[in-house]
Amino acid sequence: MDIGFIGLGVMGRPMAANLIAAGHRLTVYRDSAPAREVLGGRARFAGSAAEAARDGEAVVLMLPDTPDVEAVMRGEDGVLAALRPGTLVIDMSSISPAAERGLAAEVAAAGGEYLDAPVSGGEAGAREGMLSIMVGGDRTAVERAAPIFEVLGGRVSHIGAAGAGQVAKAANQIVVGVTIEAVAEALRLAEAAGVDAGAVRDALLGGFASSRVLDVHGARMLKGEYEPGFRVALHRKDLGLAVEASARLDVSLPVSGLVHQLMNAAVAAGLGDHDHAALKLLLDGRTG
Ligand code: NAD
Repeated sequence: MDIGFIGLGVMGRPMAANLIAAGHRLTVYRDSAPAREVLGGRARFAGSAAEAARDGEAVVLMLPDTPDVEAVMRGEDGVLAALRPGTLVIDMSSISPAAERGLAAEVAAAGGEYLDAPVSGGEAGAREGMLSIMVGGDRTAVERAAPIFEVLGGRVSHIGAAGAGQVAKAANQIVVGVTIEAVAEALRLAEAAGVDAGAVRDALLGGFASSRVLDVHGARMLKGEYEPGFRVALHRKDLGLAVEASARLDVSLPVSGLVHQLMNAAVAAGLGDHDHAALKLLLDGRTG
């Protein structure tokens, strides 16, 4: 397929590279040294979001936050300005479900199709084409997106109508965020008690407390390696979406709210661009 790809960060770069390796033709935005390093010579670099979208059968977005997606879609040189009837827009960023519903309606009014399709699996999942993709939108659009999803994902779950993918992603981020804090506290306790925290992690990996977070983020905490990965600032955004929705829906999410506040504290302590495993540094009192 001819695909416009917008948002070449930690996730977008390997995802775009995999689509090219699978034989798709990509027009990408925006230009940067890291993007050139990964994609240079294999993709066409566009000068605007509109230019990236103009000739694509599909346009994929992988941007940080709701205002970024809205600007790229609705801006003067944005995707909607260039959208041709029939174009499929797939937003794989993690943003507000309500914003997705609004964008889906605008794309439909312009004769296109729209999916929210946020992902879980991190940078490693993006590199290996093993992301879990949570999709909201019409079934026909999901079927059209199959040649893209099968390159990027290990599992594709069609959750429901527009915005439903983002609700699933918010649920995912609750589980991951709360588990990171639990793992950080478990390892902190082990260290403070003077026992080998690495041995504790190994033991826990063999029992009921085992999880991907204990494995991956636990290892990062033990090594003190906090290069992202997934930035604290982005996870704070995701838990913010969950907490905001909880007030709108009159449900109580007490621990999500607490971990959201811990992420606020981490950002305030200068850890916003660290990996989210850096919640451990708050417990260590080592926030620099
Ligand atoms: P990132 O900050 O590394 O990348 C975002 C990219 O978007 C950057 O390269 C930035 O320059 C670009 N961008 C911002 N505004 C733009 C604009 N107006 N036009 C063109 N490009 C623009 O973030 P990421 O880690 O790649 O995450 C992207 C999305 O995926 C976020 O919503 C995040 O929550 C989600 N996500 C990330 C991970 C992860 O592990 N990193 C995992 C799952 C989901």
